[in-house]
Order: sequence, then C-alpha cells, then structure tokens
Amino acid sequence: MRIMLMRFTPLIICALMVAGCSSPILRSTSSQIIAKDRDFIVLHVGDEDARSLARRYLGDEKRYWVIEDANQATPIKAGREIVIPLRTANPTGIEYSGYQTVPILCYHRFGQRSDRMEVTPKQFREQMEYLKNKDYRVIPLKDLLGFLKGERQLPKRAVVLTIDDGHRSIYKEAFPILKEYGYPATVFVYSDYMNNGGLKTSELTAMKKSGLISIQPHSKTHSNLTVRQAGESRSKYQRRVRQEISVPNDRLTKYLGERPRFYAYPFGDSNDLVIEELQANGMQLGLTVQRQPNAAFTYPYLLHRTMIFGDRDMQAFKKSLVTFKAFRQ
Ligand SMILES: [Zn+2]
Repeated sequence: MRIMLMRFTPLIICALMVAGCSSPILRSTSSQIIAKDRDFIVLHVGDEDARSLARRYLGDEKRYWVIEDANQATPIKAGREIVIPLRTANPTGIEYSGYQTVPILCYHRFGQRSDRMEVTPKQFREQMEYLKNKDYRVIPLKDLLGFLKGERQLPKRAVVLTIDDGHRSIYKEAFPILKEYGYPATVFVYSDYMNNGGLKTSELTAMKKSGLISIQPHSKTHSNLTVRQAGESRSKYQRRVRQEISVPNDRLTKYLGERPRFYAYPFGDSNDLVIEELQANGMQLGLTVQRQPNAAFTYPYLLHRTMIFGDRDMQAFKKSLVTFKAFRQ
C-alpha cells in the first residue's frame, strides 16, 4: 500500500494545493477521485462513510472493512485522502513481516456460575462490546473456507465465534446478545442432547432463521472419537465413528433442511480415520480445541480453537485475540 501511495504522492499534493486555493467555506460534500487505476482509486473523502464508499466503489457495503483495513483507519473521516483497492491484493494474509491469523473462540454454557465451562451473560456482553470497540470483525465460520483455499481475503481483525454441546442457555442467554451486536456464531450440538435436556428443535430453528446462527454437528453421544473403548474391536470402533458423524448429520438435515458442513470433535480430539469419515460425508471443516489462531495454511480438518473460560478475566480474553503472527527474526 505504501508503494501505491508513493506512486501517487505528487497527484495527492496537487489535489491538496487545488483544494487549498478553492473557497474554504464551501466544503465539498461528495467524495472526489484524485487518481484511478485498474487496481485502485485514490479518493478525497467527502461526507461519506466507509459503508457508502464500499457500496459505491466496491458494489457491496458489507465490504467496508476493505477500505478501513487498506487505510488503517476506522472510521474513515471526511477530508482525508484514501485508497480504495479494487482487487483482492493478498487473500492469504501472508506478508514479509508475518501472516494473518484468525482466532476461533469456543464457548460452552452461559449462566451465573462463572466457572471454567460457564460464562456469565455479563462477561459475554463485555467481551462482545470489546470486540466492537476494538474494531474486530466477527465473521461466520463459513467465510474461512475461501481463506483456507487462498482465495478469499478476510478482514485483518477477523474473529469467529463457536459454542459447543447445545446447552439451552445458548438460546436463552447468548443468542439475544449475539442478535444485539449482529454477530454470527456457529453452534455445535451433539444429537443425543437435542430435545433431551439440551436445545430444543424449536430453539435451533429460531436461531437458524435469524440468519446469524449456523447449527453444526458435534457427534451423536459426545464420546471421544480417537479412543477405543474397553473390549471394542477395530470394526466396532469404525462403526461407532461412522455413526457419531452420520447420525447427527441426518438429524440436523431433517430438522433444519440443510446438510451440515462443519464438525467440532468431542473433546477436540481427532485422527486420520475420523477425518476420512468426515470427508466421506462431504464435511469441509473439522475443529479441535488446540489453543492457537488459524493461518491460511492451517489444515481445514484440524482447525484450532481457543476456549473461553468463565473463571478468567478480560485480560485473558484479550490475549486470545491473536490476528497476526510476526515471523521470528
Ligand atoms: Zn463438547
């Protein structure tokens, strides 16, 4: 970006001089193009914000972050010169100094206990507020597919939210907060728990209908898929793995009318057999609970996630939001 700007510095200076000569009282309200190229536009910003600029020049206001990221500015203020990239410059996020990473956060339950597996609604709201105030962009898990193929550029501060198991507090406590912030999340349910102490079909349907929540499988019984049980033969073990993947898939397809594509391993544990079975079922992503963010080159069937514990403070939450890893010098 710096190189592009240098190329146009004389133009920008000219534009500033012209602006300086014209009447200072009549400030232009619409943006003015200073320079245009096949790859980008240099623009003097009028009273438009990043969303309206994205609508006009990128054809989609949801891509406002492309403009904010390119200019390292949120919000884009009137009167400044900016660059609008017209092409995806670097979809993998790999740079000379390091590479982009996307943290996937993993929650379980919401309630008043504030223990390891339970986060209070107050804590959850504070965390969502922090993401908003610090310009993190909460993206749906499916957006990672293109990033992992090296095809899709993601916001620099992209974060993914996931919630495991299917406890009913997800609907009662977390869902209203997610709706308030407009943040997408993926809920991974194990099917024996559905309508049996866990989330009810009506709650799953309501969350899916909101357009914010994706419901995906987290096994049938929540057994560990990598450990052979006592007296379990090889073929019996293979059959169990197959069922732990196909049964929740079939049930979710039946209830929600859509075939699942992503799978969260119970206890985060996986092996080659489990991954082969996911692939045979047309699943595209597998999620562990290995505490690391994800690069474009992370293996899609062993994605990392960072568990958020209710007995940790905001400092710990902030530390889980790693969106760039510098190369070791
Ligand atoms: Zn679980």
